[in-house]
Amino acid sequence: MQKYDFKTQPSVLIQGAMDTETEYLIEKLEERETITLGNWEFHTGFLGKHREPVILSKTYQGMVNAAAASSLALAFFSPKAVINQGIAGGHDTSFHRGDIVIGEKVVPIGAMVRRYAPHGAGISETDFEPLPIEIFDRSLGKTRKVLEFPCEERLVSIAEQVKTGGSARRGVLGSADEWNNQIDRILLLRKRYHTAAEDMESAAPAELCLSYGIPFIGIRILSNSIVNGEEFDESVGVEGQKFVLQLVEALQGL
Ligand code: SAH
Repeated sequence: MQKYDFKTQPSVLIQGAMDTETEYLIEKLEERETITLGNWEFHTGFLGKHREPVILSKTYQGMVNAAAASSLALAFFSPKAVINQGIAGGHDTSFHRGDIVIGEKVVPIGAMVRRYAPHGAGISETDFEPLPIEIFDRSLGKTRKVLEFPCEERLVSIAEQVKTGGSARRGVLGSADEWNNQIDRILLLRKRYHTAAEDMESAAPAELCLSYGIPFIGIRILSNSIVNGEEFDESVGVEGQKFVLQLVEALQGL
């Protein structure tokens, strides 16, 4: 039998920033092979009971790392879908530590235009508008500006049907190189963007997938919820990966 060519044949790219978000799935890969591109390792193989061809990518933390690893993977492989997953901090009190947010869209919460204020007027944290972001839209062959990045509805509804011991519901993911702990700021972000949770990577692959026209979904399990007084526990990342494994097994025919 001819070897599966991950460069040209379709696969699902699964990303996580840290070991606690990637190790479980990497261990589960059959016929695992590792390809190094730049500073990043990409593990190819077959995952789950239907032997779905996947690429596991540990991006490292933050937007630039996530963008770089995504860009390399999208150029080198041929993903038919991208799942960016991992841990996150809660904005919505109805999600608790260990609950999963199935991203319905991703908003870049760090992209803002500050309104003019004269010298001496002080600095208002609330005086901003969302900054439209330029993407190159491959289907149009030109750039356009957007305020948010979609998650693919088919992927979202498949994820909603995954049976899990815990809670998994749809919500908006906010993403930036930020870690917010001021409750009033979190409330403001939630009011403006309707965020359920915040993380530091998902906006980067979501933006690039919109640019390339590749279906994307962000899946985040809460490792902390300052709005509920629930402290950080990164070990929940393993449960998030178990959810993603079930999602991959449900992707038949995508
Ligand atoms: N001990 C680790 C903790 C990092 S947690 C360290 O210092 O390296 C940061 C990662 O978890 C990011 O990749 C981000 O995507 C996610 N994350 C979890 N909770 C978050 C929060 N409240 N705000 C922003 N990112 C969060």
